[in-house]
Amino acid sequence: MNDWIDLRSDTVTRPTEEMRAAMSTAAVGDDVYGEDPTVNALEEQLAGRLGMAAGLFVASGTQSNLIALLTHCQRGDEYIVGDTAHAYRFEGGGAAALGGIQPQPLPFLPDGTLDLAEVSRLVKPDDVHFARTRLLCLENTKDGIASGSDYYEKAGAMAGEHGLAVHLDGARFFNAVVELGCEPTEITRHCDSVSICLSKGLGAPVGSVLLGSEAFIRAARRWRKVVGGGMRQAGILAAAGIYALDNNVERLRSDHRHAAEVARALGDHVQLPVQQHTNMLFLDLSGTQLHRLREHLSGWNIRINRNRWVFHLDITEAAVDRIITAIRAYGSS
Ligand SMILES: *Cc1c(COP(=O)(O)O)cnc(C)c1O
Repeated sequence: MNDWIDLRSDTVTRPTEEMRAAMSTAAVGDDVYGEDPTVNALEEQLAGRLGMAAGLFVASGTQSNLIALLTHCQRGDEYIVGDTAHAYRFEGGGAAALGGIQPQPLPFLPDGTLDLAEVSRLVKPDDVHFARTRLLCLENTKDGIASGSDYYEKAGAMAGEHGLAVHLDGARFFNAVVELGCEPTEITRHCDSVSICLSKGLGAPVGSVLLGSEAFIRAARRWRKVVGGGMRQAGILAAAGIYALDNNVERLRSDHRHAAEVARALGDHVQLPVQQHTNMLFLDLSGTQLHRLREHLSGWNIRINRNRWVFHLDITEAAVDRIITAIRAYGSS
């Protein structure tokens, strides 16, 4: 048990030998000239899978959301977004800093969706006093919670009535799809743009893909260059993304199962209130309790840093067994 089991995030995964092999043999070219065949293949494949016209390989999920906001909105425009959404809370105010774009946040409902009647109420009238409301930004999964096509259908219809575009921050979209057992297009057909992270549970070392119409992606490609995201022989990275999409989507299911098994062990042996959704579980622990549990788990080479534990590619069956054994020991200590 020398290896650390790292539950801090699903971003900690390391590329496997097979993924590295795919990277090392990737055909490459200059992607700023549109000449990297592997980047082009990744963009086309994912666009096809999500029923979108075109894709754009970018450096990170944050860059993808930023480019989406800059492309949908002009200076003085506004996007409506959940107040704990990544694209509002955790991206350094990039859209305001670089685009003069104002957020209009509102609280999420407990099920990870937004109250669409409230969203509709927040759309500002066409009046010189107000920012122009242009975009509704959604997130799936939200804190691990998957929301299905019914919600997207309603959100898309509501947005359409107000002339808003819909952007989906789908950093963990494939966790949602696998959990819901739906086709990706049942959700994406209600969205104008979608951002997918390759470097979370899918296990690639770097990269996200932004998807949308041909015209949207053409404009986004310009913004990608402006924010310094034009990469050159990026096919080496895109190859990891293609490998991840070919091999690591269905296996997200086992991350969800592992999270449920560990949640059950926490309930059984430590009598802790636990919430589990897809690959995440959330504990309700005070600072001192968390500190005690963290110290205990550290003795088993298990790393946590807060009340959110995230399951991913590098948490094997054997790792889950060790986590459960450590929890049992904690319960009887
Ligand atoms: C991780 C994450 C992002 C950003 O991805 P980075 O690659 O870390 O910039 C965006 N949205 C959500 C919901 C995320 O979890």
